[in-house]
Amino acid sequence: MLRALFLAPPGAGKGTQGPGLARAHRVPYIATGDMLRAHVADGTPIGQAATAYMDRGELVPDDLVVQMVYDRITSPERLSGFVLDGFPRTIAQAEAAYEWGRAAGSTFHAVLSLTVPDDELLRRIVERGKQSGRSDDDLDTFRHRLEVYKAETEPLIQYYRSRGILREVDGTGSVDEVGGRLEAALDGLDLT
Ligand code: ADP
Repeated sequence: MLRALFLAPPGAGKGTQGPGLARAHRVPYIATGDMLRAHVADGTPIGQAATAYMDRGELVPDDLVVQMVYDRITSPERLSGFVLDGFPRTIAQAEAAYEWGRAAGSTFHAVLSLTVPDDELLRRIVERGKQSGRSDDDLDTFRHRLEVYKAETEPLIQYYRSRGILREVDGTGSVDEVGGRLEAALDGLDLT
């Protein structure tokens, strides 16, 4: 069963492509941004700790996110497949995920890096902000999220490239075109 994750800047289309990819492979789609927003909406301790970071476009502290994803993946029983969106986002998170995966003999099969030029990301996010009502979709916060992505998350591209599991996919074009490229990028993988 597929164990893949998306590695892409905000606005690149993870949330658009992720659910379809997960459905096609019959695995759960796990989006840490959605999980955190649900915690905020429910007023849980995790939500209370996370909300200020999210509103500023900062990353939520690693220990909090790592525990949240670990719980989702391991209980009530360990998932053997998933599509992750939004995790890992730092090298420390990636190292934690690798430790769990190695211990269980179930490391990631593929890391899908969706590439979209910055000006196209900005255009998309302005559109989304009009519709989503998400508190972090205004332009200044978005610019900051992009900076945080480049500083904290982009180094993961090299991390996963050196492990041989990075698949780079052009994220421009129609939803179907990008979806087709994603499927093609997974072709021939041994998903055991
Ligand atoms: P996007 O990728 O469009 O910026 P997400 O919905 O994935 O948005 O994430 C929204 C916010 O949730 C992030 O800006 C960050 O504050 C928080 N977040 C989500 N995933 C993580 C993570 N793995 N580590 C730290 N913070 C996270």
